[in-house]
Parts: sequence; structure tokens; C-alpha cells
Amino acid sequence: MASHVVGYPRMGPKRELKFALESFWDGKSSAEDLQKVAADLRSSIWKQMSDDGIKFIPSNTFSCYDQVLDTTAMLGAVPPRYGWNGGEIGFDVYFSMARGNASVPAMEMTKWFDTNYHYIVPELGPEVNFSYASHKAVIEYKEAKDLGVDTVPVLVGPVSYLLLSKPAKGVEKSFSLLSLIDKILPIYEEVVAELKAAGATWIQFDEPKLVMDLGAHELQAFTHAYSALEASLSGLNGVTGFGFDLVRGSKTLDLIKGGFPSGKYLFAGVVDGRNIWANDLASSLSVLSALEGIVGKDKLVVSTSCSLLHTAVDLVNEPKLDKEIKSWLAFAAQKVVEVNALAKALCGQKDEAFFSENAAAQASRKSSPRVTNEAVQQAAAALKGSDHRRSSNVSARLDAQQKKLNLPILPTTTIGSFPQTLELRRVRREYKAKKVSEEDYVEAIKKEINKVVKLQEELDIDVLVHGEPERNDMVEYFGEQLSGFAFTANGWVQSYGSRCVKPPIIYGDVSRPKAMTVFWSSLAQSMTKRPMKGMLTGPVTILNWSFVRNDQPRFETCYQIALAIKDEVEDLEKAGITVIQIDEAALREGLPLRKSEHDFYLNWAVHSFRITNCGVEDSTQIHTHMCYSHFNDIIHSIIDMDADVITIENSRSDEKLLSVFREGVKYGAGIGPGVYDIHSPRIPSEEEIADRVEKMLAVLETNILWVNPDCGLKTRKYAEVKPALSNMVAAAKRLRTKF
Ligand code: GLN
Ligand code: ZN
Repeated sequence: MASHVVGYPRMGPKRELKFALESFWDGKSSAEDLQKVAADLRSSIWKQMSDDGIKFIPSNTFSCYDQVLDTTAMLGAVPPRYGWNGGEIGFDVYFSMARGNASVPAMEMTKWFDTNYHYIVPELGPEVNFSYASHKAVIEYKEAKDLGVDTVPVLVGPVSYLLLSKPAKGVEKSFSLLSLIDKILPIYEEVVAELKAAGATWIQFDEPKLVMDLGAHELQAFTHAYSALEASLSGLNGVTGFGFDLVRGSKTLDLIKGGFPSGKYLFAGVVDGRNIWANDLASSLSVLSALEGIVGKDKLVVSTSCSLLHTAVDLVNEPKLDKEIKSWLAFAAQKVVEVNALAKALCGQKDEAFFSENAAAQASRKSSPRVTNEAVQQAAAALKGSDHRRSSNVSARLDAQQKKLNLPILPTTTIGSFPQTLELRRVRREYKAKKVSEEDYVEAIKKEINKVVKLQEELDIDVLVHGEPERNDMVEYFGEQLSGFAFTANGWVQSYGSRCVKPPIIYGDVSRPKAMTVFWSSLAQSMTKRPMKGMLTGPVTILNWSFVRNDQPRFETCYQIALAIKDEVEDLEKAGITVIQIDEAALREGLPLRKSEHDFYLNWAVHSFRITNCGVEDSTQIHTHMCYSHFNDIIHSIIDMDADVITIENSRSDEKLLSVFREGVKYGAGIGPGVYDIHSPRIPSEEEIADRVEKMLAVLETNILWVNPDCGLKTRKYAEVKPALSNMVAAAKRLRTKF
């Protein structure tokens, strides 16, 4: 019985690759230094899998940036502006595409399916001259072989590659990406031939696009591509095996039961690559036994549901994690062991001790008092079946709010955070490490808030924020104060390039032992007569940016978080905060891959948001904020959130967002599409901002438009923020005189 792993994290157990990359980019170390770190990481991964007994060990899943960019390099599809003149693509051209250089910005980056991993979007047009320009797959295969490990080289499949691309500038409307298939297949054939010559007997083509809703034309491309590959590669017997995700693919098992091509291998992805939970080995074993009955003993391979890239690296580096919680977890290194244990169990070599330890952990997770909180379960169950809406409609509410707030037209505000200086980060870190007393910490934060309040008053902003100086991260801050969350020391997951995130782990029922933000928000409000926004992260965003428990549906967990945030909203209101912003930055990114599942998700996600604020007075103004630009398909859900004001990251996709309203979607609540991009250090001029606002006014009513930047200002410097906001306020004031 064989075992297989789809792919493995690249960063290393302590983010070794991140530090090597950043040091190389800063010119502090050489290309050889970087190569050495990368090679060491690869070799330790291969050795570990080989020691663990994995039969099919992947190679070429390592990357110094991204596997899609690696494929772009393999195909020589470098956009001309990067000045590549042929030859093997090296770090200079590669990292210029990834990160830009002094004269050319980076290529676009976008989210990989429904994960938090981002890939570099290939830009393809009829002019691209494909050529075999990066031999990385072959080099890494040989590198492993030299270490005594025979691996399965992994390639992003040709059809998914094209479908993940975008048409190059100038051909956006007229170009079919799939029309390039016959141009890239010859390169794939070259790569495969070279891999075969080097000794590879298996090659893994990742075609993740197959999980999407595809049209006949796209499906046809798969058939065409793989029969062409087969025909050209004599000796390679067609597609020999198929790997499926049996965790996310809720219908996969039934489909396989309904018929699987005879004589082919089934790589059964039963170990979840998307979370940090230990596998329920007994239950996986019964799934595998059923599959064995269908495909036969010698054709079943135990595998992971997807690449382990999307999970944390190694539990060994979590000495501080609570022992019981730790027994419920498996990071990438542990998942490899699980895969192998399952494979051995199927062929009669069950490691009884390992299985009974696992069963004990599963049982403890089911019965542990730290997981279940009866009161929370009951409160969440009571929510179901009822709708949660504020008692008056939005226009009545806006009237009541305006009586209290008395804002000018085109009111100005910001999204929450202000620049986080090194000094500020230091104070927070030292307080956490108990090197700074509570008193000194409060004093330092208070001073910072005061500075931010005074600055906003000087700038003459209408609705103020406290600047979030006490927060390291908008999810972590709340997770740390809620019950049911655990945090790791090294549970990093690659987000893009060298950037990693460390999602909290939601292991139990979520509740709020005490108020989380009221102290700071009241303090900030006491410093000014202007309205001070209370600032919260919404339940859907907390959920989508965490590792979520898998022992109850996601929506249950989301409702529990919603109830906790509801308590916070109501406490803020009681403390005299009249404007409360509940960020749902990540609502859009939780959208399921299949269209048939969209409505269900949007329903509970939007419902969760409404639960948080359905209980406030008409005169309390609820804001929300959303990042990332693809809203057009969910605009009706956004309206259904029924916030009084929504601010939206917009400046990178201006026309798209406004076109919804141009096409007649009615929006009656306040809306603030960001007027400038805070991701760039560039300072927008007053004219430019005024222009932007005027464009918005052409489609949106004057009395609902707000003027604000795209997102929080945390990553910017004061030298950028002050003039930018000053221009923003000046633009708003100038436009006000016109009405
Ligand atoms: N309130 C958060 C902040 O300003 C929102 C962050 C975001 O836009 N993602 O930092
Ligand atoms: Zn944002």
C-alpha cells in the first residue's frame, strides 16, 4: 500500500526561507547563500518524507516565490517589460516579475482559489514566444536523486496554468487564453522528456482548476491537452493515476463509488492539507477500505487532500502550546506521518500504539470541557430560524443618526489604524513579554491615541478613529481575548513571497469573558467632542482568517463569534460610542469555489454580521469595511448586510465598483469607496482626490457618499499619511461648496 504527499510548505519550520529571501533582497547576502538555504530546506523535507516511509515524494513543490511564477519561468512567458533576453531565467528576472524593480512594478498577484496563498498572475497574449527557459523541475529532481531520494516531479498542469492567467494588456477583451494550449504543450513535452531521461517514472500534473464550475470548452481543453501529451510521449502510459481531495470535495467519494476507470491508481486525499487538526485515523481507514473495494488493493494510494503548503509546518516547535490542545493537532510534518500510518494500516502493518493514541486524542477532543460551552451552544442554536434585523429601515436610521451626529455632506473618516511606529511595536512587544508594566503600557498607548486624535482634529476629519495602537493584528487582537482560541509560536503559513500569516486556532465554543475594546474606545472618545468610531473585527473575518474547528459546521462557529461581537457592540453603545465600525475585510474571500454553494455561504455570513448589530438604537451608526475589489457579484449580499455606512477598498478597481451602481443597483446607505490607494507610498493630490469623488458623485447620491482612504493606515508612515489626509479633507471641503 503506497503513500503520497501532494506538496509541502517551503518556508521551513522557523521561516528560514523568509529570512534568507529578505536578506538576499536587501543585498545583505548572496545568491549562493540563498541557494544554500533553499537546498538545505529541500533536502531536509525529502529526507524526512523518505524516513517516514512515503513512497511518492514530491519534488519541484519548493519555490523561492511561487509555483505559478515558476511555471511562467519554465515556459519563458516573461512579459517584455522585464527585459529578459533569453537564456535560463535567473533570480534577477524572476524576482523582478515577483516584486518589481527600480523601473518596473511587479506583476499582479491574486489569491489562489479559496486559500490565503497568492500567486503571480501570468500575462499572456498572442505574441508570447514560449520557450523552455527554466529547468528547475529537472534540476530539483536530480538534486533529490543525488541525495538518494527518487521523487515525483510536480508541474502546474497546462490547462490550469492558462486558466489562472490573464490576457496581456491590449488584448483583454479579444483573447482566449486556452487558444495558447498548443503553444505551451511542446514545452511541457520537453520538460517531461528530460524528466524521463533523468529517471523519473511518475510525474504529477496539478490541475486544480478542475474543481471549478467549468464550461464544455474548458473541459474539452483538458481532454485535448492530455491526449496530446500522451500521444507525444511514447512509453508513458497516459494518465496512470488520479488524485482527489476527499475532504473538501464532499461529493468526491460518491462520484468514485459511482465509477472509477479500471486499472488506474487512485490517490485518495484523506489527510486534510488545509487545517491543523489531527486526522481521525479510524474514520479515514474506513473510507480507504471502501475505496479499496472499488479500485483494488494495489491501485490505492493514501494521500493528502491538497498540498500541505496551506498548513503550518511542524508541531515540534510549539513547546508552549497546551498539552491537551496539542494532542488534537497535526501540522505538515505530522500529517506526513499520518499518511504513512494509514497506508501501513491498510496493508496489515497497523501501528496499534499510534492508532490508539490518535483515538484517545479524538475522544478527548469530543468530550473536553474546554471545547464545549453549553450556554454558548444553546445561544447559537436559538439563533437559527429567526432573522436578525434592526427595527427600522436604513433611511429612518440615517435620519436619527444625523440628528445626533450633525455631519456635513461628504463626511470624512479613515478606516481605523494609524501608522505603527517601531517604538509603538516595541512597547507592545515588551508589555506582552512582561518587561513593561501595565501602567506604563496604558500610558504609552494613551499618549499614542491622544496624538492620533489631535492630528485628526487638526486635519479637520469628521468622524475620528483611535488608531488601533494596541493591536498587532485585527484578528489576533480579538482572538486573544475570546475563549475558544489558541495561538501558536511558529504556526506560519505562506501568504505570498516571503510573507507569512499565523492564523489563530479556534478549538472550542467561542465566548467573550469581558469587554475587549470599550476601555480604549471610551478613553479615545473622552479626548474629543467629535464622534469616535468604535472599531471591531466582524465574525466572518475572524472566522476566515483563523484555522477553524472541523467538528461542527463553519456557520455554527461563525454564529458563536457573532454573539460575542454583539455583546461588544452593545457594551460600546452603552459606553456612549455612537458610531461603531465592524470590519468584514474578508467576507468576500470566504466565498466557496462552486457557484451552487454561494447562496448558502452568503446567507449565513451576512446573517452573522447582522446578528452583531441588530440590537442597537436607530441613532447608533453601524459602519462596516471591506477589502479587496471583486464585489460586483455579491453586491446584493452587501446591501443585505444592512450597515448604515460601508467603506470599501476601491482605488485599484474604481470603474468596476462604480459600474454596479451605474447599472442601476440602488444603494440607500452611506458608502465610502476609498479615494486613494494606501498600499503605495505615493501622496495623492487634492485635485486627483476631488476628481475621483466627482466621478463617484456621478453615480451615487451626494447625501450618501463618504470620503475616506482605501484601508487602514497601519503600514504607512506619518510623512505620507499627513499630507495625503490633508489633501483628502481639502478635496471634500472644496466639493461641499458646490452643493
Ligand atoms: N480597521 C482595520 C485597520 O484600519 C481595517 C484593516 C483593513 O482594511 N483590512 O487596520
Ligand atoms: Zn481594507
